[in-house]
Amino acid sequence: MAINNKYLKTVYDGLKQRNADQPEFLEAVEEVLVSLEPVIEARPEIEKNAIIERLVEPERIVMFRVSWVDDNGKVQVNRGYRVQFNSAIGPYKGGLRLHPSVNLSILKFLGFEQIFKNSLTTLPIGGGKGGSDFDPKGKSDNEIMRFCQSFMTELFRHIGPDTDVPAGDIGTGGREIGYMFGQYKRLRNEFTGVLTGKAIGSGGSLARTEATGYGLCYFVDEMLKANGKSFKGQKVVISGSGNVAIYACQKATQLGAKVIAVSDSNGYIEDDNGIDYRNLQLIKEQKRDRIKTYLDYDFGKNAKYTEGCNGIWTIPCDIALPCATQNEINEESAKILIKNGCYAVGEGANMPSTPEAIAQYKAAGVLFAPAKAANAGGVATSALEMCQNSARLSWSFEEVDSKLKEIMQTIYKNAAEAAEKYGHKGDLQVGANIAGFEKVCNAMLWQGVSY
Ligand code: GLU
Repeated sequence: MAINNKYLKTVYDGLKQRNADQPEFLEAVEEVLVSLEPVIEARPEIEKNAIIERLVEPERIVMFRVSWVDDNGKVQVNRGYRVQFNSAIGPYKGGLRLHPSVNLSILKFLGFEQIFKNSLTTLPIGGGKGGSDFDPKGKSDNEIMRFCQSFMTELFRHIGPDTDVPAGDIGTGGREIGYMFGQYKRLRNEFTGVLTGKAIGSGGSLARTEATGYGLCYFVDEMLKANGKSFKGQKVVISGSGNVAIYACQKATQLGAKVIAVSDSNGYIEDDNGIDYRNLQLIKEQKRDRIKTYLDYDFGKNAKYTEGCNGIWTIPCDIALPCATQNEINEESAKILIKNGCYAVGEGANMPSTPEAIAQYKAAGVLFAPAKAANAGGVATSALEMCQNSARLSWSFEEVDSKLKEIMQTIYKNAAEAAEKYGHKGDLQVGANIAGFEKVCNAMLWQGVSY
């Protein structure tokens, strides 16, 4: 993968110099710029208006100290961030990641991806991302609450229902959103849709929890159908066991597949009888426990646990749905998957396949559903939550789910059509990047620059 277009190459080389310490961000930008080459060549106004230079530079980044008191009365300090990347088509929108690996490179990569993903949803939302290097693992409920409150005590002045609407991501679920929402409300004296992923009855949307996993399966289903295939009778391996994985497991099963493995950051379980998503709900949502404990229950008698999470890609399957984290499938894992007969990959996590892994899929003709299209169902449903909040209404589960399905079908159609229009028929990675880009680019051109 290399950038050939002279203009794109100059912009990228400059970016590389300025951000040499941000490998994840550079990887995400390079992946997008390579696929934009045919658009840049067809539309000279993009270079003239420095659209790419502007696009790769976040509009604003906020970095702040988060101090909080642990259960022993000791003060702890973490770093908080919000990257407000692009607001050309709507308020900044994107999750908050709480994980020790969080740094500026990771959040800029995620914020950059979010611009295109959000544009693809067909709804008016810009791109943003935030979070902290705080590690929620092993923290008590009170510690989580104090951290979230302290985090919001700074963040509240930078966000708002028409400015920037954060949501969940790795480490931030319904509980954390609740503590943050409570603090925002206290500080602003305002009950608005400033965060999404809220609890049902407190402004949350039905089907938001399920949305990313369901949306992934709706998208993959479209891709399979377009290629004369379906989920029926297929063996599926899903990495992760957070809300994306849990509800991808449910929907893939409903669509006729058998999910034979899931994982967490410690290891993975295999169960040839098929994994029931309700068991994952019990372990992960109710007990907040490790996936290993699957074996301790009655339903786990037929299962096998293996320590270490990457080995999950050595399990023979027809369809792989990586739903854990970035760069979890490398070239080696991709080769093994393909050798074992995997013919379709749908990305539930953000950028879970390395560029080398994607090159392997393409060379082998594996059907590939790229993250920014395939996992857009979560943020799309967040935008539906914003609609309901603005209208002070709540829609039924069926209503939200049917809108989600329609959105995922439209994303598939738009990505497939953009790929074909620019000479890359069948390449959804290129198509998703182009379709996501063109809408943002047109809005930026329309809005002009300030002198
Ligand atoms: N964190 C999710 C994502 O990566 C959802 C963001 C949102 O709902 O704003 O798209």
